[in-house]
Amino acid sequence: MNSIPPIDLKRQYQLIGEEVSAAVTAVLSSGRYIGGPVVQEFEQQFAAYTGVSEGVACNSGTDALYLALRALNIGAGDEVITTPFTFMATAEAITHAGATPVFVDIDPETFNIDITKIPPAITNKTKAIMPVHLFGHPVNMSALMDIAQAHNLLVIEDCAQATGAEWAGQKIGSIGHIGCFSFFPTKNLGGCGDGGAVTTNDQTLAASIRRLKEHGMSDRYHHQETGINSRLDALQAAILQIKLPYLERWNDARRQVAENYHRLLQPVSEIVLPQELSGGRAVWNQYTIRITKDSSNNEYRDWIRSQLQQFGISSMVYYPLPLHLQPVYENLGYQVGELPIVEGICHEVLSLPMFPEITLEEQEQVVYSLKDSLSL
Ligand SMILES: *Cc1c(COP(=O)(O)O)cnc(C)c1O
Repeated sequence: MNSIPPIDLKRQYQLIGEEVSAAVTAVLSSGRYIGGPVVQEFEQQFAAYTGVSEGVACNSGTDALYLALRALNIGAGDEVITTPFTFMATAEAITHAGATPVFVDIDPETFNIDITKIPPAITNKTKAIMPVHLFGHPVNMSALMDIAQAHNLLVIEDCAQATGAEWAGQKIGSIGHIGCFSFFPTKNLGGCGDGGAVTTNDQTLAASIRRLKEHGMSDRYHHQETGINSRLDALQAAILQIKLPYLERWNDARRQVAENYHRLLQPVSEIVLPQELSGGRAVWNQYTIRITKDSSNNEYRDWIRSQLQQFGISSMVYYPLPLHLQPVYENLGYQVGELPIVEGICHEVLSLPMFPEITLEEQEQVVYSLKDSLSL
């Protein structure tokens, strides 16, 4: 049997390698490596794809989140409500902006923030909600925007894992005040290096982000505020420009892969399968199951994972420790047991190999090995 990686970016490159090489060569010979027409074109294309008027490219998804917070004047003394079940970058951006992340427990069905638990977490310091569309699954943005409007809160969408996902027919990143995207290679739209973008329909906000990402510079060498250096380079923009037209196709392929897993795993009783919310279009950055067979044993999932590895199947654990219990956030004073759903689920989750090019035979091998491991 072949070994199966969690994701294989080489297969995608084999498909589009020639186009990418030509685009890269064109940039190399143009002599314009930072900024310039390629970056501008990509910004416009990405904004059009997302269904907003403004797209601003930057150096990473992390920077996109930080720039969004800064542009919205969120900082010291402010609270931002978010999920504890996400990559560190979400909360890190809040901390870097000088604000305080407030973690709300998750919905066990979707792994996303439990919207019903947001209102009780709102205080007079709350400025914004930062929902994360985790694993490619859109948050119920209709319900979330209702709460935000009722309490006059800003909404910054962390779209890093869900480029192309939709809620109620609208692309995520176009529903809140600002959408933040990552083009890290393993995301649904990934470059060959770091990259990110911010989307919005607010021209003033977009202009502010453009300043902040270039050292707070309004006119050349005139600085209004303390910014950062966060530019998308022209090589990444050229590569992303080649890839963007393929994104819908790749997301459809991911949806097919998810459907296959679903069919193959349906009869297995010791696990819980991920579901797509009605009203949303998920783009499956991950296919994450819960292993509930021995939920009293916190090590059982890790044991299954090591069994799978012996069969040559590489699975991943996103995420083993929720953010409210991370050592770096000890100062926030969260106690074990405070967010019980996420604290239980982090011992159960297992992400199976998921990428558009995985074959049905490989999926069958994954499922076969998983069933075998569960029955040991
Ligand atoms: C990847 C990711 C980020 C950060 O993106 P980078 O481009 O790696 O900085 C932020 N939030 C989530 C949920 C992510 O998965």
